Amino acid sequence: QAKVDGGNRLRFFVPDMDRRIAHSATLQRELLQALGSDELVLYYQPQMNLHSGRICGVEALLRWNHPARGLLLPGEFLQIAAEGGLMNEIDEWVLHRACRDAALWVREGFDDIRVSVNISPARVSAERTLKAIADALDTSGLAAALLEIELTERDLVADLDETARALSGLRARGLKVSIDDFGVGYSFLSHVKALPADRIKIDQSFIHNLLTDEDNATIVRAVVAMAHGLRMGVVAEGVETAEQFTQLAMEGCDDIQGFYVSYPLPLQDLLQRLRDNPPAAGSKAAPAGKEQA
Ligand code: C2E
Ligand code: MG
Ligand code: MG
Ligand code: MG
Repeated sequence: QAKVDGGNRLRFFVPDMDRRIAHSATLQRELLQALGSDELVLYYQPQMNLHSGRICGVEALLRWNHPARGLLLPGEFLQIAAEGGLMNEIDEWVLHRACRDAALWVREGFDDIRVSVNISPARVSAERTLKAIADALDTSGLAAALLEIELTERDLVADLDETARALSGLRARGLKVSIDDFGVGYSFLSHVKALPADRIKIDQSFIHNLLTDEDNATIVRAVVAMAHGLRMGVVAEGVETAEQFTQLAMEGCDDIQGFYVSYPLPLQDLLQRLRDNPPAAGSKAAPAGKEQA
């Protein structure tokens, strides 16, 4: 799925620089059009709860089904979108689509599967974003408790107090908040204390060599202890192997997300996957007449 950027070394040359700029302008224009067409799509990556073995939620991941370039990943167009001032439009589109899709699986009986949406911390306290969140919930009828906002600290929070107030407001309405990519970027411990959140997502860089690097295991153990001490849950990102899964269960991690559980899936494939999800005790999702042992 990932594409290798073979053009990296050539960017020093002016003609290629010009080409890149022209390329961005084209992409920006095309992206603006894509927002009004069916070219943007959300894929949903399941998260598995390690205590129950069930899928407990999904993360919405944006893709652009470009007519000429094929399926583009966020890394290939979000920067261009930001440079073109299109992030508000993208956030609004993603929030509405994610809530609409989640309301659909709730109606199908999967009424405890939460959807997580990535929002830049720079915009989470903006009036426009808060209104978009409220609108998306109203229009879809989705329960606020089934929507989670994921914030990375990769771009530093400009006004910590204002962000904290916005997050408190969201949580007061019943939404969940998670800190994404924890451990890289600007994950100061003071932020963990100041930013009210329900879950911490440990960055995949700590998970990928969990088995070969004892230091990573130590860090994961410490993050789990800290999160639980602060009454937060812990999600491990980028879990790819059964060995990582076992180790994370041993460390007391709550949820895992990664290719080991599932690749990000189009909505229809997600629904199929949820039908195979073992039901929680007492859930409406429990299929009738399941064979008893
Ligand atoms: P993220 O929020 O940390 O999302 C997880 C990324 O890791 C996703 O990449 C996912 O496909 C990938 N991933 C999941 N499991 C594994 C695994 O086992 N191994 C490996 N190697 N990778 C795995 P993706 O979809 O390319 O998204 C990249 C980033 O783009 C996201 O990182 C997020 O920061 C951003 N993004 C995605 N969708 C949106 C969106 O709708 N809005 C905004 N603002 N940002 C988004
Ligand atoms: Mg995320
Ligand atoms: Mg992440
Ligand atoms: Mg990441």
